[in-house]
Amino acid sequence: MTLAEHHRARAAAEGGARSTKQRRGPLDDPAADLRDEIALAGGMPELPDKIWFHKTAAAVIDAQRCVGCGGCIAACPSRSIGVAEDGKPTLVKMCTGCSACWDYCPLAGLRTEALHAPSAGDATPVAIGAGESAAAPGTAGSIELGHIDSSWSVSGKAKAAGVQDGGAVTALLCHLLATGFLDGAIMTRRVDAFHGEPFLATSPDEVRAAAGTVYHQSHPLEVLNEPLGNGVERIAFVGTPCQISVLRALQRFPWKYRRSSAGAVVLAIGLFCTRSFDPDTLEEALGAAGVATPEVTRIDVREGKLVVHSASTELLCRPVKEFHAASLKGCDECADFTGLGADLAVGNLASEPGRSTVLVRTQAGLDAWAAAAGALDVRPLEDLTPVVRTAARDRRRAMRSLARPFDPDGPLWMRYTEHLDLYAEGERSVQPPAEFRSHHFEVTC
Ligand SMILES: Cc1cc2nc3c(=O)[nH]c(=O)nc-3n(C[C@H](O)[C@H](O)[C@H](O)COP(=O)(O)OP(=O)(O)OC[C@H]3O[C@@H](n4cnc5c(N)ncnc54)[C@H](O)[C@@H]3O)c2cc1C
Ligand code: SF4
Ligand code: SF4
Repeated sequence: MTLAEHHRARAAAEGGARSTKQRRGPLDDPAADLRDEIALAGGMPELPDKIWFHKTAAAVIDAQRCVGCGGCIAACPSRSIGVAEDGKPTLVKMCTGCSACWDYCPLAGLRTEALHAPSAGDATPVAIGAGESAAAPGTAGSIELGHIDSSWSVSGKAKAAGVQDGGAVTALLCHLLATGFLDGAIMTRRVDAFHGEPFLATSPDEVRAAAGTVYHQSHPLEVLNEPLGNGVERIAFVGTPCQISVLRALQRFPWKYRRSSAGAVVLAIGLFCTRSFDPDTLEEALGAAGVATPEVTRIDVREGKLVVHSASTELLCRPVKEFHAASLKGCDECADFTGLGADLAVGNLASEPGRSTVLVRTQAGLDAWAAAAGALDVRPLEDLTPVVRTAARDRRRAMRSLARPFDPDGPLWMRYTEHLDLYAEGERSVQPPAEFRSHHFEVTC
């Protein structure tokens, strides 16, 4: 079913009527404008759910819930969204009100738990034997870990400098690029210890240069908007679970008006993720904890600890919860620790230091895994208990933080007016959009 068909079917099922909860008038919506007044006065109930970017900004970005995935930028067919000086999405030219930024944002319209529900199907259907080899708690189809074909503790045979754990991601991608299995990979490289930037790597050298984790969400899905270049047809995408979810939505619901490279992604590598950080706030928090941030070369989140290194020594090792204020508020609403939509999911939990944990989830993951076997030192990983525990903890945190119901069997999309009702109050409530972020909307539409 296309997205448009979904909306039509829901509207038809509801007989065109709006729920009694949705009684709002223009003044109830902090992002309300003249269009809302005209729509409501004219008795056109569907128009309040036709979303211009300034409404996504009001509900997500200016409500400080954005997790920097870049999904809105990638979904916009008119390329109207870019990144503002504050590091968050902004209008860069006229918004057409197509609603795509709302429908593909994991903190707005897109209910990612429904995207990954077993009943929903996925961009890369699972065609392999359920539970064949992951002899561990939470094997195939478990609510915490999703589908797993097999689980491994991995180290790259030739470990590149700067890898985060076992260098599994770097070794695998280098091999797949060198052998022609892939033509490129969208990844995030360090600008400095606190900031990253996304790019398309097309050579093993470029992959090696991007080794290591950067705890900064720098809108990597935006790269899907750029031309891939001659001969680049099969690419991987490396990203956090929220990024993988939006990638899957873009693949499952393409649109003829949207030019995107999402269809070229044949391998989605998801990184385990409990939270990411706002780089500037993290720098301030570390400075307050006595760390001279210019010295920082590497940051690691491992087993509940934030570990900060300089080139020569460990500068800090403290419970990561002490730095909660520097983490992205939207991450609290995220219930996907292990990248449920990925072909391969990679983290460090459950493996010894210096090795990566790899979950092989799909046929595409299995094909890449087999193709890269020569580059990896692998051991079967039997005990995934720590991963299950962390995934369960993340899910509980999301239950506490989400103002909307968490319902894997519910509809894939949530409407703006539903969001307004559910996020009417509290620290996650809809805020008037920053004028600089959406002024193009007012002056050009
Ligand atoms: C925000 C964040 C939080 C994480 N939290 C956990 C956690 O709590 N527990 C856990 O077990 N693992 C976590 N990880 C994953 C872990 O840090 C390692 O990335 C993973 O174990 C792979 O290690 P590696 O040595 O195999 O990867 P490497 O070979 O070092 O390659 C790392 C790859 O990750 C890509 N990358 C780096 N930063 C980002 C980013 N911000 N967004 C997208 N891609 C990126 C790089 O481009 C590179 O391709 C987290 C990762 C991120 C980005
Ligand atoms: S969470 Fe992602 S899709 Fe939503 S506003 Fe932020 S960058 Fe855009
Ligand atoms: S915790 Fe979830 S929302 Fe936050 S960066 Fe990680 S995957 Fe994205």
